[in-house]
Amino acid sequence: MTENLYDLFHGRFPADRSRAFIETADGRVYTYRDLERTSGRMARLLGDLGVRAGDRVAAQVDKSPQAIFLYLSCLRLGAVYVPLNTAYRTAEMEYFMSDAEPGVVVCRPDGAETIAAMEIPNLLTLDRDGGGTLVERSRDLDPDVPTAPVEADDLAAILYTSGTTGRSKGAMMSHRNLASNALTLHRAWGFAADDVLLHALPVFHTHGLFVATNCVLLNGTGMLFLNRFDSAEVIRLLPRATVFMGVPTHYVRLLGDPVLEARVCRDMRLFISGSAPLSESVFEDFRERTGHTILERYGMTETCMNTSNPLDGRRRAGTVGPPLPGIEARVVDEHGAPRPIGEVGVLEVRGPNVFKGYWRMPEKTAAQFRADGFFITGDLARIDDQGYVTLVGRDQDLIITGGYNVYPKEVEMAIDRLDGVAESAVFGVPHPDFGEGVTAVVARLPAAAAPTAGDIIRRLKEEIAAYKVPKQVFFVDDLPRNAMGKVQKNQLRERHKDAYGPQTD
Ligand code: AMP
Repeated sequence: MTENLYDLFHGRFPADRSRAFIETADGRVYTYRDLERTSGRMARLLGDLGVRAGDRVAAQVDKSPQAIFLYLSCLRLGAVYVPLNTAYRTAEMEYFMSDAEPGVVVCRPDGAETIAAMEIPNLLTLDRDGGGTLVERSRDLDPDVPTAPVEADDLAAILYTSGTTGRSKGAMMSHRNLASNALTLHRAWGFAADDVLLHALPVFHTHGLFVATNCVLLNGTGMLFLNRFDSAEVIRLLPRATVFMGVPTHYVRLLGDPVLEARVCRDMRLFISGSAPLSESVFEDFRERTGHTILERYGMTETCMNTSNPLDGRRRAGTVGPPLPGIEARVVDEHGAPRPIGEVGVLEVRGPNVFKGYWRMPEKTAAQFRADGFFITGDLARIDDQGYVTLVGRDQDLIITGGYNVYPKEVEMAIDRLDGVAESAVFGVPHPDFGEGVTAVVARLPAAAAPTAGDIIRRLKEEIAAYKVPKQVFFVDDLPRNAMGKVQKNQLRERHKDAYGPQTD
């Protein structure tokens, strides 16, 4: 037994390997025996291609059970799995290839030509139905591969951050990082022998790959696996599931479907939300409609999960709960000095979940860590006297207007409470007098009497200090979001950068 994460999972697999691990939406079942054999064969093929412990294996593939087996095959070899967002285009892929220097790349068949031009030592393909050279070339190989012995600090994966500022950075996740977080979440969320997870998340991101899949693997149980989120499909499968993990957009979409009601969720045990802020109105509406209180948690690529509302105990809307066991969190000012309880500052975390650093970026790594080992998350937050953490935005999203600090979340919450508003995003753009002008983009509810920009500004002035009130309000049908439901504020800032007069870049 070594510190290999695969050994930890393996020890929890059901004795009866004919039990289901993955069932796809069209009813195909992959058992734990399939998992062992297919990942073993893939590991054998990768090994034959020269992949050794510590080598990178990159994958830009659609979601499929075979993509999960590929991840497990890398663990078994001691190789470093590098999943890449399917939305990345050629120039981005060129950067990832030159940065990660993978020994093998697995890509979609229609992307093979482009990636082959990047001079990759070995290129394999995998399509959404599990076809392609990865499976074809490994099909007849011996699945019995020994699990590579690794140290706890050895790398299991590199996940590239979404890179909202500058270049995307590769977060180096060790076997210890992933194992400790999986064990912590599995316990905190009370996984039990009869749990079935409904999985509708992408598997190139920490949420779908590590939080969801690793919990299931530790539990030795099954998951219902959708290739992508589709509210009708989720509602169809909910009666057969007990746990659902989603991003806030998923909950908004589920609420938009009148078929969602308590009866459909009768056998559900737990709904979990994360990756982006869950609005209080969605939290309340979901409780009213289904009888379930969504459990919101918070994490990031670099740290896996840091905090979670409790399984037993009060789940508070608008908060992400206290730090998980074994993880410390503190709020500090810009010099690193602790802020008093309830005051806003930058959130820092420390624990076995926190990554080893950014791949080949020692300076960027050093800049994100304090001398005492705390990682500077870049999230602005406050912690109350009961230890619950409330996020108020990203450090870089903080608006400084006329010398005053404005936390976008506070303004967004005030806007979202107004009649006729579905959701909003608040950000700063250059302003000739104030430095930055508070600016809002609002999506209105279709049925309601639509408030105008003037209505919103007037009503906000009754609710919050005048300097926090947006100077301009723009309307959209939907806020721009990425696959994880995060609002793309860079896009909004770019679109409205001339709102207070033309800018010269
Ligand atoms: P990523 O690395 O893509 O997972 O993004 C991590 C960031 O997502 C965090 O630093 C937070 O800003 C945000 N995030 C994650 N979970 C939540 C949550 N429950 N509420 C608000 N923001 C969240």
